[in-house]
Parts: sequence; structure tokens; C-alpha cells
Amino acid sequence: MKKKSLASLSSIKLSISLLFAFSIPPAFAEIAKEVAHEIKEVKTEIKAIKENHTEKSLHWTYSGNEGPEFWGDLSANYTTCKIGRNQSPIDIKGSLLDAELPAITFKYNMLTPSTIVNNGHTVQVNMWSGGEITVDNIKFKLKQFHFHTPSENKINGQSFPLEAHFVHLSDDNKIAVVAILFSPGADDATLTNLWKTLPMEKGDESKLDSHSLKPLEMEAKLSNYYRFNGSLTTPPCTEGVRWIVMKQPFHVSKQQVEKLQKALKQPNNRPVQPLNARVIIE
Ligand SMILES: [Zn+2]
Repeated sequence: MKKKSLASLSSIKLSISLLFAFSIPPAFAEIAKEVAHEIKEVKTEIKAIKENHTEKSLHWTYSGNEGPEFWGDLSANYTTCKIGRNQSPIDIKGSLLDAELPAITFKYNMLTPSTIVNNGHTVQVNMWSGGEITVDNIKFKLKQFHFHTPSENKINGQSFPLEAHFVHLSDDNKIAVVAILFSPGADDATLTNLWKTLPMEKGDESKLDSHSLKPLEMEAKLSNYYRFNGSLTTPPCTEGVRWIVMKQPFHVSKQQVEKLQKALKQPNNRPVQPLNARVIIE
């Protein structure tokens, strides 16, 4: 997957240098500029994917000297956390653009997880196979999902006890995150399964039963969501992420939240970021 992107990257580069070599009319210069922008975007995304896989390389935390307000200074790779204009999470409020958003196709069939990992920042379920969504006519595959307590995104200033992020990647390494907020209520069936082998200490990892994610399986077209551009909510805070926040919260019990809090030892929510020039569509 990576090779393919890098190959297309160099072919884009080649076409740019050809454009400049023959010094072609201004319309082409515009195209070249666009392509150059695209190269930058692809490079950033590839870097993000790589860094996500070797995440332990640089230390950061949710409080203190290496907390969110300092992430941008911890590494040259993390500057987007500081200077980015489309950062996540956000408070979803104000004048939203009512645009009759097209439905997102969820094909969450035969969801097969591999492991559940406590990496010190979150508890994450890694996927073998099974989840796919279609957004903007692009297919994205579910790679992992993980949890934040309390929620990272807010709605009209309201925080939720729990938020799950379903992280999807397209074949050309574009990222789409589907966020589910949880409000207080009964036990969530998926969490009941997952929490049976919840890794309680940083570095702990358990294998997951292939049936653990049955309660999440569905085939549906859903249009009840907020949509905006954003970033990863952890360093390197890479932008260009398609954010989809489902309007309908799930339910979670107090006991289920408390067990996660015990495993994480501390809140793992990045504070909400300025909206800047962005528009939230609903
Ligand atoms: Zn997250």
C-alpha cells in the first residue's frame, strides 16, 4: 500500500518537473500548484501512518510538561499540533451548515479483531478485517478503534463520559474517523465483551475472541452525522482527516467507564481546538 503511494508520488513529481521544463501557460502552472499541494498532503499522511505504527518513539502525555499545550514543541514532527488551523477535537456548536449530507455506507460485516492493547495513551482494538465505510465515493477500511474518557469532541459545550474513534484508511492512505459519543445509561454490549480482557497496564495486550465485535456488526446507510475537516487528536496531529461524528450517542454504564479510567490512570482527552475558518456540516 505504501509502495503504491510512493510510486504515484514520484510520477506526480515527474509530471511537475516536465511542466516546468517546457514552461507551459499559466493554466498549467495552476495545475502544477495543485499537484504540489497534493504531494505535500500525501507525504504528510504517509508520515502519519508510519509514525502511528512507531508511536512509542517520542514521549508525550495528557498533562504536565509534555501535555497537549506543549505537543507542538516536543518534536519537529509535531509542529502541526501548534500551527495547524484544522485541529481536532472541536466543540460542535454555532451556525452549522445544513446541507442534507449524503448517507455514509457502513459495511461492518464479519468484524474480526486481532488484539486489544493498552499503549498508555488509550485502549485500542486492532482489526484483522471486516469493517468498511464509503464516504465521498471513497472506500475506507477499518484499521483500529480506541477510546477517550471523557469525550474529546463536545456538542454545544457538552462533554460525554466516553468517545470511541473508529479509524479508517483508504487504499491511498487517506484517513476517515467515525466518532461515537456515549451518554450515561446501561452497559454497552460491545464493551461488555471487550472489557472481559481489558489490558489494565500500559504495554499490556490481549488476544480478542472473533465474536467480540458481533454487537457492532451492521450494514446500513447513515445520514445522521456531523461532518468537518480535522486532524488526528494525538501527535503528530496530522490534518486532512475526514471527521464524522454520529449524532445518536450510544449508552455506557458508570462501571464500564470506571474500568477504562482505571486502565488509563488519567483522562485522555485533548482539549477542544479553535474552529478557525472551518464549517461544520450537518
Ligand atoms: Zn482518538
